[in-house]
Amino acid sequence: MQVEKTEMNILVIDFFSSNRAAAKQTLAEHKVTVCRSYRDGDRLLDTPRYDIAMQKHLERKCTSENMPYHEARKKSLAETELPYWDVVFCDLLMRVGPMEQNAEGQKYVNQKMAVGWSLALRAAKNGARYVAVVTQTDCDSHPASAMLDDLNNHYFTIDGAQVLMTNKFTWVGIDDTERVCEKCGGTGKRTNPYGSQYDCHCDGGNIYAERGKDWGRILKQLVDSEKKG
Ligand SMILES: [Zn+2]
Repeated sequence: MQVEKTEMNILVIDFFSSNRAAAKQTLAEHKVTVCRSYRDGDRLLDTPRYDIAMQKHLERKCTSENMPYHEARKKSLAETELPYWDVVFCDLLMRVGPMEQNAEGQKYVNQKMAVGWSLALRAAKNGARYVAVVTQTDCDSHPASAMLDDLNNHYFTIDGAQVLMTNKFTWVGIDDTERVCEKCGGTGKRTNPYGSQYDCHCDGGNIYAERGKDWGRILKQLVDSEKKG
C-alpha cells in the first residue's frame, strides 16, 4: 500500500541533525518542519500561528533567501495559514526546560528525560492524524526505552490519531554523506572463496557517514495500520 500522495503538514522534533535531515529526505513529498528541542516542539505544538510565523521568519533570515524584511515577514505569515499538523513525530528522550519551576523543580531543568510521549499526546489531542515517538536509544541503554519493548508493534488510536511509540525503526543513509564501499567496490555483492555470491554488509554498495531515522517508513506504517483498522 502506498502512502497517500496528498501533501501533509509534518512536524519532526529531534535533537540529532541526522534525524532531522532524514525527515526532510524521507518525507520529501510533504511539507516538513523540523526543530531540535522540547522547548521548540512545545511552542510549535499549540501556540498561536503568529509564533510559528515568527520562527519561520527568523529561520528565513538565517538562510540564503535574500528578500526585504516586510516581504519575508509576509511570506512567513502566509505559510502559516495552515491547518493543524497532520503528522507529529518526535524523539523520546529530550532535555527539558527552562520551565516555570520552583527551587525544588529547578534541579530537573535541562536534564534528559523521557518526555516524547507528552508531546505525542498533545499532538493527538490538538488534532494531528498520525503521531509517533521514536527513540534510537536501545532498550538495554535506558529504562525508558525498555518500557517501549511491549508497545513497539501496537498502533494506538488516541483522540482519532494513529499513534506509535517505538524503539524499533530502520536507519536510512543521509544523502551526500556516502562513499563507495571498498569491500564490494560499490556492487553490493561479494564473492566467497568458493565462488558463491553473497550480499555485502554495506548499504547497496555505499557506506554512509551519517544515518538517520527512516521517518517515511514510520509514516507508511501508521497509514497502513489505519487502513487495516
Ligand atoms: Zn559493500
